[in-house]
Amino acid sequence: MKRKLSNQFLRNFLVIFFLTILDTVLAFILLSFSSGLISGSLAKNRYPASAIIKEDYKQIDASAVVQNGGGVQVVDKEYRVVYSSGLDTIGKDKLTAGEFTTFLTESKSKSYHYDILYHPKGEFWLIVTFPTSIRLDFSMVYNKEAAAGDFMRAGGAIAFVMFIYLLILALSTFIYSRITAASITVPLRKLCDGTRLLREGDYSVRVDLRLKNEFAELQNTFNDMAARIEHEISMREKSEEDRRRLILDISHDLKNPMSSIQGYAELLIKKKDMVEQEREEHLEVILNNCKRANRLLTELFELSQMDSPEFSLKLARTDICEYIRQICGELVPQLEREGFKYEFDIIEESVSVMMDTDRFSRIIQNLANNAVRYNPQGTLVSVSLMVENNQVVIDFGDDGIGIPAHLADNIFKPFVRVDNSRNSKTGGSGLGLSIAKKIAQAHGGDLTLCLNGNKGSTFRITVPTT
Ligand code: ADP
Repeated sequence: MKRKLSNQFLRNFLVIFFLTILDTVLAFILLSFSSGLISGSLAKNRYPASAIIKEDYKQIDASAVVQNGGGVQVVDKEYRVVYSSGLDTIGKDKLTAGEFTTFLTESKSKSYHYDILYHPKGEFWLIVTFPTSIRLDFSMVYNKEAAAGDFMRAGGAIAFVMFIYLLILALSTFIYSRITAASITVPLRKLCDGTRLLREGDYSVRVDLRLKNEFAELQNTFNDMAARIEHEISMREKSEEDRRRLILDISHDLKNPMSSIQGYAELLIKKKDMVEQEREEHLEVILNNCKRANRLLTELFELSQMDSPEFSLKLARTDICEYIRQICGELVPQLEREGFKYEFDIIEESVSVMMDTDRFSRIIQNLANNAVRYNPQGTLVSVSLMVENNQVVIDFGDDGIGIPAHLADNIFKPFVRVDNSRNSKTGGSGLGLSIAKKIAQAHGGDLTLCLNGNKGSTFRITVPTT
């Protein structure tokens, strides 16, 4: 691609090169034409000395020259200025021979045009002076009578100068075409390299062109695209990893109860002479394991239901203070039965929120069950409700064994439990908090674990007010 673009640029610049030569030739022709045009129109050429000279200098009519800004002087053979009219650049009445010679030789380079003519009969010099306006001395002089060797030398010098001129022009055309092409091909190459690396799976690639033109826009778009792809890929990898872990956890958690059910059922079939009490104990183990497997599958179903696009809440405007007060009332018998202390602090106001009361009660019920299941008797369970920045904040806490701070985020992931051995005894699936968080988020709020350094654990539920 680089070569193609560079060659394209070279071709374009060669066209410019030839156009420049053409322009130069045209410029020379125009210059010579305008030189002729100007010289014909100038006063100095309209009133030359030869046009006004007379044998008797006294009869010379200098009026036209003077009217056009010029002057006429007559110098006799003694170098005296015997006649002067209009512009006078001699400034003396009498000159020495040396002064007159100097005047004659230097008259070419001054900013005046002198036309000097000697009248042999009258023995005087007629000097017609005009101020120089524009000087355009462009003309080619060709004289057939000149020596042939001179022609050769002059022609050779002109050809050499032309050759050098064309060489410099061609070289600068080539260098300029390469520089211009590079301003396109270098950023393009960097972008191509970046795209290739991206295609090969290096999503961390970014392009830095250090430019401020359209390429910079392209660079920003490319970098944005690469960053987005990198983010998407890492998200996909993470969700793939989560999915793999979930399947592993499900199979692991289902394996134990299912093997236990199978083992005890086989034992019941094989051992015909089993005493009634032993038989009932085995059946109870089977029942408990069935319940555990059933609970796990029900919760898994609930969790996947909430991830499906069809999932929706049955929202209704509800006074959340009244609702939480009622739920707390329903928790009292359970807490008392388990030997737990409790305190509730719910503001005496009516705060309305849009909520699915059935689903929302699942959050509170799960937090209450956990508080009772994982903490010793005598633990204080507290529920408070307040409104902060258009948000209802419900804190559900206990002063029990607590949850380690490093698990604050992960505890809401499926199958994450503080202590697996302890939970297998309590029958926890590790799905309750995941479900509760998803319900809170579906309400536009959240469920988080507060790390306030207090004893025990405090969960915070937030829901926006309407
Ligand atoms: P599980 O079905 O195991 O209870 P959860 O998602 O509801 O699943 O809880 C995850 C883990 O968090 C529990 O296994 C337990 O280790 C810990 N946990 C939850 N609530 C409390 C609490 N109030 N006190 C101590 N640990 C808790």
